[in-house]
Amino acid sequence: MKYEADLHTHTLASTHAYSTIIENCKAASEKGIKAIAMTDHAPMEPDSPHIWHIENLDVLPAKIEGVRVLKGVEANICNSEGKLDISERVLSRLEWVVASLHAPVFWPGSSDELYDTYKKVCQNIHVDLIGHPTTGDIDYDADKLVKLFKEYGKLVELNEASFASGRTKKNKLVDLITACKKYEIPVAVDSDAHFCYRIGDVNNIARLLNDMEFPSELIVNNDFEKLKEGLLKKRPWIEL
Ligand SMILES: [Zn+2]
Ligand SMILES: [Zn+2]
Repeated sequence: MKYEADLHTHTLASTHAYSTIIENCKAASEKGIKAIAMTDHAPMEPDSPHIWHIENLDVLPAKIEGVRVLKGVEANICNSEGKLDISERVLSRLEWVVASLHAPVFWPGSSDELYDTYKKVCQNIHVDLIGHPTTGDIDYDADKLVKLFKEYGKLVELNEASFASGRTKKNKLVDLITACKKYEIPVAVDSDAHFCYRIGDVNNIARLLNDMEFPSELIVNNDFEKLKEGLLKKRPWIEL
């Protein structure tokens, strides 16, 4: 299967990543990827860029090296109230918003707290995608969680970097994919690349989806035209 968009990528503005946006776009273009979301870390991560990095994304053209760059952020979920570390004013101007839990910022103490936290995050209209919900050791009820994401129209991310590095355990990922298949929940399959060679690299997840016979119509980023429809529905003003 071909993935025409990669909806979670980092540039060297997040200092544990190593490529420029031009390098990322060149790599995407060489792989036939039509769009990438540039989603550097928001301010609460210890090595994130200054908020001005996120606020000033408008200076970038819509396309770089022929690849549409969605101006976005990977926001941190800061507490069990689902607070994000980006203001409404900035969020409302972005084209793509990932919300993720990261241990240096906040981590729920139990599966109930995890669920309640995600429920609050889901109530934020600006959030498009729940980043790597499978990371960490807290067990959760995958059925309950994916139904929550669907109820609020949030996409579930299957994250290659988290799986390949072992931060996502295979059994949790399998449970999540099984639940998404059962309840017909749309997913995004992303690299979370921190270096340009990894843009669009979702091989491990793709193999697993194939083995589990996951329906391709539930994957939002395997067809840029299909993705565009969803993007324009939510943000009709963006140029695609
Ligand atoms: Zn992350
Ligand atoms: Zn990331």
